[in-house]
Amino acid sequence: MEYGTGCLVCGDEIIYSAAAATFTCFYCGVTKETNASCRMGHFVCDACHNAGACDLIERCCSNTDCVSPVALAMTLMKNPAVKMHGPEHHFLVPAVLLTAFHAATNAGKGTLAERVREARKRADDVKGGFCGFQGACGAAIGAGIFMSIVSGATPLSDRERKLSNLITAECLLAIAENGGARCCKRETLRAIITGAAFVQREFGVDILVDPVPPCCFTNMNRECLRERCGFYPDAREVEMITPIQGAEIQCP
Ligand SMILES: [Zn+2]
Ligand SMILES: [Zn+2]
Repeated sequence: MEYGTGCLVCGDEIIYSAAAATFTCFYCGVTKETNASCRMGHFVCDACHNAGACDLIERCCSNTDCVSPVALAMTLMKNPAVKMHGPEHHFLVPAVLLTAFHAATNAGKGTLAERVREARKRADDVKGGFCGFQGACGAAIGAGIFMSIVSGATPLSDRERKLSNLITAECLLAIAENGGARCCKRETLRAIITGAAFVQREFGVDILVDPVPPCCFTNMNRECLRERCGFYPDAREVEMITPIQGAEIQCP
């Protein structure tokens, strides 16, 4: 579910205190004096609060300490700036994979910010509806953008170009075989999981892939595959309207 009111992270009520205290922004890590946070202690800075989807993704992925691309994607997808469906997911996939890759390889945050910015620029060419109109889901292309950036691929490269096309191909296969109308949440998660497994196999880099929490977006998606989707919550175990609390995600 997305939170239209209250805390952007967990949906809980915002508490206003008379005395300001120092908090760290949940998304971008900036430290500010504030009188407003939720009961869980989430604080969102004004810049992140007012950011559009791609700005928010860029700010968060460049600065977070979260090492789980699934948790990071879920956190960002629950923010109301990221719509149920939309081309921002084409940037979200390479952004969270870059963040996780940098954490797993101890690469610096400075290079990460540059790479996330480059991913955004490239993902901008992958417009909405690519899956149906161009025959290549933008979430899968996002994994290809990620690989192209970390491998330094160009159209003239050999192995780097192969790896970039291969990761996209594997993501597309995973997405296509499941069938169904588009769901940007489902395809984003599938591309992240497939991409992380690819990185493990090809580079021996362990990207943390924790279990995907039960999907909380089904009520917002008219075309939800429900029982046909691997992320659909089992109604016997999960109450659909129960929000996934930020505390469980522990991110960043
Ligand atoms: Zn909160
Ligand atoms: Zn912020």
